[in-house]
Amino acid sequence: MKAFVMKEIGRVAFMDKPVPQPGPADAVVRTTRALICTSDSHTVQGGIGPRENLTLGHEAVGIVDVVGSEVKDFRPGDRVLVGAITPDWGDLAAQNGYPSQSGGPLGGFKFANSKDGVFAEYFHVNDADANLAKIPDGISDEDAVYCADMLSTGFMGAEHGNIPMGGTVAVLAQGPVGLMATAGARLRGAGLVIGVESVPSRQKLAQLYGADVIVDFTSEDVVERILELTGGQGVDTAIEALGAEVTFQTAVKVTKPGGTISNTGYFGEGEFVGIPRAEWGVGMADKTIATGLCPGGRLRMQRLLQVLETRRVDPSHLTTHEFPFDEMERAFEVSDKKLEDVVKVMITF
Ligand SMILES: [Zn+2]
Repeated sequence: MKAFVMKEIGRVAFMDKPVPQPGPADAVVRTTRALICTSDSHTVQGGIGPRENLTLGHEAVGIVDVVGSEVKDFRPGDRVLVGAITPDWGDLAAQNGYPSQSGGPLGGFKFANSKDGVFAEYFHVNDADANLAKIPDGISDEDAVYCADMLSTGFMGAEHGNIPMGGTVAVLAQGPVGLMATAGARLRGAGLVIGVESVPSRQKLAQLYGADVIVDFTSEDVVERILELTGGQGVDTAIEALGAEVTFQTAVKVTKPGGTISNTGYFGEGEFVGIPRAEWGVGMADKTIATGLCPGGRLRMQRLLQVLETRRVDPSHLTTHEFPFDEMERAFEVSDKKLEDVVKVMITF
């Protein structure tokens, strides 16, 4: 089968690979749609260390092709969504409520990390009964595939943010995860959602997904403006959706005592991330810093699909580009170099 791989750090290409085979509890899925993620770029840049001929991609939907002998609830032909995170559900971290950390920190992140990913004609799913979810008839593949990571991670930002009903939320950066965090904040009952973003097309999307006010960091002081918008109090919840030290520090500065800084960003550089000491109350300001990797799993995927089924959120506005799998090299370049105001690139198989 055809697979799109990271040959080595900094180099991607197509290659032929054998179709994977399932173990007793596993499934093999024939890919129908996939999305390219900023994480794929981080991986190719060496973010998880060197890899050779690793199939990229972790956001996909498809049709079950084969199941192992112990799989109970899925059969060949089922149309399925697979979470980007595919935990080992028997692991103690999963039993403790943190499935994405099964098998060690970030251990649930297997696709395009500890095993081949989904940018291939077929891909392997461990623990199929726990990691697959059937897609209801009324939901298209193009919408469902957003549940794999974008809705899951963005909503996690809002969930971990402990947003009070009517509370104030700042979402720092309106990339696809930030946009879904914005949508999640509105769904969680925020009374005021402030979206921080400078790109006009993303500002528009932020408003569409629920931002009441846009703050443009290129023309105004973000901290000053957010304090002004909240009567000098700061926000109940600041969601970091970029993965940059300056954004993280802004999040700490604009959060009120008792509030939560909810991180979804990937911090790929340096040995430490600095916390602004004064605004942290020299360590005593009652500000909680929450971190997380989106949990995968069938139950979570079913819940996210339910959000789509009742049209609470329409993720289709995130798709700015669409390419057939054959044109993956160009598709990856558009996403990687952030060309043409890209938000998300959809791949059709
Ligand atoms: Zn992703």
